[in-house]
Amino acid sequence: MRKPAKAKTYKPKECAQCGKTFTPTRHLQKVCGPRCAIDYQRAAKALLAERDRKTKLKMRKKELQPRGYFLKKAQTAFNAFIRERDEGKPCPSCGKYHPPKVFGGQWDCGHYMGVGARPELRFEEKNAYRQCKACNGGAGRFAAKNKTVHESYRSTLIEWYGPELVDWLEGPHEAKHYSREELEKIAAHYRRKTRELKKERAA
Ligand SMILES: [Zn+2]
Ligand SMILES: [Zn+2]
Repeated sequence: MRKPAKAKTYKPKECAQCGKTFTPTRHLQKVCGPRCAIDYQRAAKALLAERDRKTKLKMRKKELQPRGYFLKKAQTAFNAFIRERDEGKPCPSCGKYHPPKVFGGQWDCGHYMGVGARPELRFEEKNAYRQCKACNGGAGRFAAKNKTVHESYRSTLIEWYGPELVDWLEGPHEAKHYSREELEKIAAHYRRKTRELKKERAA
């Protein structure tokens, strides 16, 4: 004959619903009794419904955003990754390792072939490098400076990676059309890459 299982005793705990102390009779018992069980379940359901409502609202808001919103998010994530990747390298235009701060920051992501002229290279890692804000921001405003900044950018890339890269960048490229979903994926991809890089560096 089997021995009757010894009745297990549980330590008193606080009811998740009413907060009163009670002694559970079952494993993982959260509430003191049936009354609180009903209330507790109701509250949990309401919480889930509220969460669901918030997610739906967020999704609807996102759907209403123009495509530019997703493009900007993806570009921001890409640019942040480039700045992180090139940490420790000098500015490819002026050669400075410690450039002065401009508008509160030192570094930008500078596209060798600008995104305006070559939008198909906006997410091309070989087309973007960490550039100091002074060199990146100077582009366009002062034509002469712009020219030198770009020329030295060019010769630095040739020095670092060889003329083939610059030839390829300056050559023709297929146009690219990104859907919202693709842009969201790009943003997530580069956020993850930046995070991983930062983690590696911290280790
Ligand atoms: Zn209770
Ligand atoms: Zn510079």
